[in-house]
Formats: sequence, structure tokens, C-alpha cells
Amino acid sequence: MINKQRIIDRFISYITIDTQSDPESQTTPSTKKQWVLARKLAEELEEMGMTEVSIDEHAYVMATLPANVPHKVPVIGFISHFDTSPDFNASNIKPQIIEDYDGLDIILNKEKNIVLSSEYFDDLKQYKGQTIITTDGTSLLSADDKAGITEIMTAMKYLLDNPDIAHGKIRVGFTPDEEIGRGAHKFDVKKFGAAWAYTMDGSQIGELEFENFNAAKAIVRVQGKAVHPGYAKDKMVNSQYIAVDFINSLPRLESPEHTEDRQGFFHLSDIRGDVEETVLEYIIRDHDLGHFKARKEMMQDLASEICSQYENDCISVEITDQYYNMREKIEPVMHIIEIAENAMKAANIEPLLKPIRGGTDGAQLSYMGLPCPNIFAGGHNFHGKYEYVPVESMQKATEVIVKIAELTCEKYK
Ligand SMILES: [Zn+2]
Repeated sequence: MINKQRIIDRFISYITIDTQSDPESQTTPSTKKQWVLARKLAEELEEMGMTEVSIDEHAYVMATLPANVPHKVPVIGFISHFDTSPDFNASNIKPQIIEDYDGLDIILNKEKNIVLSSEYFDDLKQYKGQTIITTDGTSLLSADDKAGITEIMTAMKYLLDNPDIAHGKIRVGFTPDEEIGRGAHKFDVKKFGAAWAYTMDGSQIGELEFENFNAAKAIVRVQGKAVHPGYAKDKMVNSQYIAVDFINSLPRLESPEHTEDRQGFFHLSDIRGDVEETVLEYIIRDHDLGHFKARKEMMQDLASEICSQYENDCISVEITDQYYNMREKIEPVMHIIEIAENAMKAANIEPLLKPIRGGTDGAQLSYMGLPCPNIFAGGHNFHGKYEYVPVESMQKATEVIVKIAELTCEKYK
């Protein structure tokens, strides 16, 4: 139903435009080059016949597919991001298309001996017989999230070409700077005007996510007293030893490398220090809001406990919340998950509901008043040279978008 070659062509036309974001930049979009794809998308939306096409001063692109039924249907939206990760080379992407994949290793780069191993990345095996798009081993692929953009664009074109499929008003939104955590920051939820939306930004076929971490970062500053080591008796306070005490007082097994599923953690991401001052940077993650609060309190309590052994307030803990679990905002509107599940089943896909061990733009948007679960876009191994996407997964994701439009319309008949 959804033309495979057209998906491939569209996808390649997007990934060959470099749109890498930059966390050091203070502007939105963080890099000028993101404008190139933003403008191209706006043009294509106009060309295919979408209405209310807009591109704002921060490069957020929005457009409307008008309803084709007389009855009232809630406005729904589909969102993805056009920037790519700053963690890996994203320029000069040279995709390779492997047709009728045999389930074995894929040589990405003969010269450099870079191989996508189906033993190591065993998710690959489920795509035997399909068409896989990979990198040439020198860059990422940027299926994250140009697969999502391809799917939304293709679905809108499909609905425009097939007016017999009944649907309500649909909004699409493409954002910059998701990879540096700012994709939702300047997203105009009011202007978007949807009752709910889906980000097309998940990984493997079937993924449907509406739970993510509650997240905070903590800066722990430990104050010491630097004195000449030769005259230090009873005078020197070495902040580094106090910092080590603090680190060892936190539960060592509650760390990223020892946890999975819904287990939370403390993650020590950076240490720098000398005798006078040591600074520790942590991130705190937990799906459960109560546990999340308890973790933050635990850090403060430990600090005062350790400080009580010294004369002054030698440790300060500064905690900033980053984002929250969207589950709280999705639970009151569970029908939006049901619609997505039913859409997947109608497309012969087994829905995989699982908690995200991270955050999404959708989580932030949910707290901004736009409930926004996340749906698979099909790619694997994001942010590196082993990234790949099966074309059939992009076809299926496109089909899911079309089905969601259809089922939402039916539900409110
Ligand atoms: Zn993404």
C-alpha cells in the first residue's frame, strides 16, 4: 500500500542534508544548517497540498491536513525532529541499501574493516529478507529522526492521495534541537492546537512508549581548606577525601550499569577537584515520582550527615529538575494509547509497550499541555556508525499513522 521506493527516495533526500545540532550554541535552531531541511520540508508540505504551512523564527515547521468528514473529531498531531545527534559525524552521509537481507554480517566499510555484526547486534536477524539501509561506517545514518519525518510526510501524502480514507484535522510538527534536549522548548503548543499528538521517534518496530524517567541533575560542591602540606597538621581539609566519602555513601548498585527496566539510579557523570574544592556532577533518574523525590532527599541528607563530622557546611548539593515521567499526563487519557495499539494491530504489528530509560520531547510536551506518547520510527543503534533502518519498518510506521487517523475519526463518529 505504501510505496517502498518512494519511502527510500524521500528518506535519502533528507539524510543527505547535514542538520547536526550543537549543545554549545545558545540560538534556536542551534545550528544554521538546520534551516535548510526545515525550509525544504515546509516547501514540500505546501507542494503536496497541506494547509496552514508555517515556519517560525526558530525553524519550527507546522502544517495541517484538513478534516474530510463533517462530524467533530479531536485534532491530533504527529511530531518528529530534524536535527541529528552531535555525538557522531553526521556530514557526508553515504547510505548503503541492502536488498533482501540474508541475516548475516553487513560489511559497512571494506577499506576500514567496519562490519555490522548480526551476532553482536542480534536485532538485525528479525529483518531477514527485508531491505536494510545502513551507513558506510564513517557517519551516523540519522534515521533518528529522519525516519520519523519520512513516515509523517509519506502518510500525509498518502491521505491526500486517498481522500476516501476518512479522517479529522491532523497537524504535523517538525522541530529542531531535540538531540540537545531543546526540541520542545520553543514548541508553540497553542498554535499547534492538537488535543494530543505522537512523536514518531522510537526505535524498533512495535514500540509504543508513554513512560519515561523523572530526571534531575545534581551539582555537589565539596569545600576543603588548602594549606602547605608541610604545615598541614590539624589545618588542612582535603575536599577530595570528603567527596570520596560522599560517593561511597550512595548505594553503589543503584547506578546505570547495574539497573534496568523501571529501576532508578544515581549516575556520577563527572568529577573534578583539588584540595580546596571538588565538584561532582550527578544525574538522578527514576520512573516513580516518590522514589525520585526520595533520591533527591537522600543526597541532601547524606551531605548534612557527612558535614556534621566537620566544622562547617562543607558540602552543598544543588539539584535541578530536568523533566518528568509523562505517564502522569497520559494516564487520564489512556484512549490515545489504545488508539495507537489498535492502529498497530490493524497493521499486523505486535505493540511493544515499555518504559523509556530516558526522556523524549513528548514528555516535555505532555507537561506543556499536549499529551504525547512515542511511537517507533524503525531505526536501530542510534547516534553512531552502526545505525540502520529496515525500509519495511518505515512502511509500517507510515501505515500506523494512517490507521491512527482513521481510527480516531471512527471513534468519534
Ligand atoms: Zn530522536
